[in-house]
Amino acid sequence: MRLSRYFLPVLRDTPKEAEIVSHQLMLRSGMVKQSAAGIYSWLPLGLRVLTKIAEIVRQEQNRAGAIEILMPTMQSADLWRESGRYEAYGKEMLRIVDRQERDLLFGPTAEEVVTAIFRDSVRSYRDLPKNLYNIQWKFRDEIRPRFGVMRGREFLMKDAYSFDLTADGARKAYQRMFVAYLRTFARMGLKSIPMKADTGPIGGDLSHEFIILAETGESQVFCHKDLIEGAIPAADTDFDGDLSPIIEAWTSKYAATEDMHDAATFEANVPADSRVSARGIEVGHIFYFGTKYSEPMGARVQGPDGQMITVQMGSYGVGVSRLAGAIIEASHDAGGIIWPVPVAPFEVGLINLKAGDADTDRAATDLYVKLQAAGIDVLYDDTDERAGGKFATMDLIGLPYQLIVGPKGVKSGEAEVKARRTGARASMPMDAALAHVIDSVVSQRVLV
Ligand code: ATP
Ligand code: MG
Repeated sequence: MRLSRYFLPVLRDTPKEAEIVSHQLMLRSGMVKQSAAGIYSWLPLGLRVLTKIAEIVRQEQNRAGAIEILMPTMQSADLWRESGRYEAYGKEMLRIVDRQERDLLFGPTAEEVVTAIFRDSVRSYRDLPKNLYNIQWKFRDEIRPRFGVMRGREFLMKDAYSFDLTADGARKAYQRMFVAYLRTFARMGLKSIPMKADTGPIGGDLSHEFIILAETGESQVFCHKDLIEGAIPAADTDFDGDLSPIIEAWTSKYAATEDMHDAATFEANVPADSRVSARGIEVGHIFYFGTKYSEPMGARVQGPDGQMITVQMGSYGVGVSRLAGAIIEASHDAGGIIWPVPVAPFEVGLINLKAGDADTDRAATDLYVKLQAAGIDVLYDDTDERAGGKFATMDLIGLPYQLIVGPKGVKSGEAEVKARRTGARASMPMDAALAHVIDSVVSQRVLV
């Protein structure tokens, strides 16, 4: 993409309404634009990031055996009356009446919709287990939308729902999502920690929130420091095999959010120098809830002996749009965003320091064509802005590598490579610079 033809409305000044760094940087780099409180348009740069995040989520859901569907944003209130949640949900639910005076709502989650799909299409235990997911916009009329896309009212969520014949089957479904989540966040360059979360009236130990440590996080969290560097299950993990050892390794050390924290247990089980007490961002939440929806909504299958069995369910959410902010919270410096390669809107920023100079244009265009031919996502700054402004914009928008071409370098046949994360710069012969950038990008596309 040529910057001269792109839509990148960057802001030089920090918008006053933005309290935290990710919100400031998303506005300044022209990723999003607020449309109403907690409701955002995603501009081209932001949309590229959102799409890459969603694709990683999708790949890991598929790998774990979940199947993608797409459910509507608008839901019928009658379904929610069946589960008993229509009255119970409260003011976060946006209720709408259509022209026939029927009650609708903008879905804050989709347990009812998916349970109805299952109930009306699955008859036999032979069709189990199943896990259906979608990546869809949700609406929750949050009392205090803030921090940009981190706590929006309209936000993109991946929500998966598992259906099993037995509680043991449901535990295995839960474990598959647990492993999928570890991989999902690691692939975005994040260190997520599964923390014990409240299971409410269901009880048991099958509820975990996946938390990213960040000073601006909304939750207070407590954990053993070893969990920050925990081992991520490999891509060839057998999801049909026994995942218990992986779950055991991640859950045997203390990790709890404020609601579940017990100071005495924490101190008794974690040596003083390993205790982490920090702020965290919830990027995912997995939850087993048994027959909470399947029972009232009549989601039953015929069992092996002909008897009807109410299915065991769990739900598994990822905050896809929140992740864009969370990644920035975890990866930025004074100059702006530092995107990990797998979620970068473009992998390389090519800077022409003297657009309009025939030799420089020719050299930069040559690199642009070669980068594209190598399958690299490249943003080519071919504008006539001054060098300082170009450098500041590239640092702000955080592309992992910059390839800088100026008239002096062109004379000696050299270009400069800058790694955004380390700030390291090196001049190299054109071909070597090109090869270096391509190799660096390709080697970081798949982090785990
Ligand atoms: P929170 O405690 O942050 O309000 P929640 O527990 O209500 O979230 P879930 O119902 O578990 O959220 O939703 C699954 C995921 O969706 C969360 O882990 C979070 O990443 C994301 N999410 C929830 N609410 C919002 C929101 N208002 N804006 C952006 N993302 C959200
Ligand atoms: Mg939650």
